[in-house]
Amino acid sequence: MPEATYDHPLFGKVKYRTDSPIWVRGDHITFVDGFDVRDITKVHIPQLVGVPGTKSGNLRFHKRGHAQIEQAFVDIEKLGLLHHITSCAGALNMRLRKPTSGGLSKLPSNHAFGIAIDLNSDDDRLGASVAPVAPVFEALGFHWGISFNDPMHFEVEEFIEDPDSVAVHLAALLK
Ligand SMILES: [Zn+2]
Repeated sequence: MPEATYDHPLFGKVKYRTDSPIWVRGDHITFVDGFDVRDITKVHIPQLVGVPGTKSGNLRFHKRGHAQIEQAFVDIEKLGLLHHITSCAGALNMRLRKPTSGGLSKLPSNHAFGIAIDLNSDDDRLGASVAPVAPVFEALGFHWGISFNDPMHFEVEEFIEDPDSVAVHLAALLK
């Protein structure tokens, strides 16, 4: 089983191993050191209850990111943008990155840390239809995957454990 270390910008040095005896694209991984998967816990997002792909609006997400992902969906709803979210492919996935280039990455996906979420993955445009809500996520500490050709994907860039609403600010900008 390949074993490797990675210096994650939020968690520091982590050690992990893959399931297969050789490196395989998107392989399942297990953290060996430096990351505690028990920090990934359930968060309920009421705005996702009726959205296909989530289990009654429940996600598994890193506990330090709960407040900002909850706030993002509250603000998306406040801004009247919720109808742009048509499906949610979930958040947690213990695997290596799967670059949209189709190549092999030996780095763990941010889905494995419970800090990434994929929206509208089934829109036949890699999730590009979710673009109208991207400014809300970006204002709440998320990085939008469009920069690496993965528009369905949002990941925590900076933990914000006590976020303020960004709805009023963004409403003014979007006018
Ligand atoms: Zn993703």
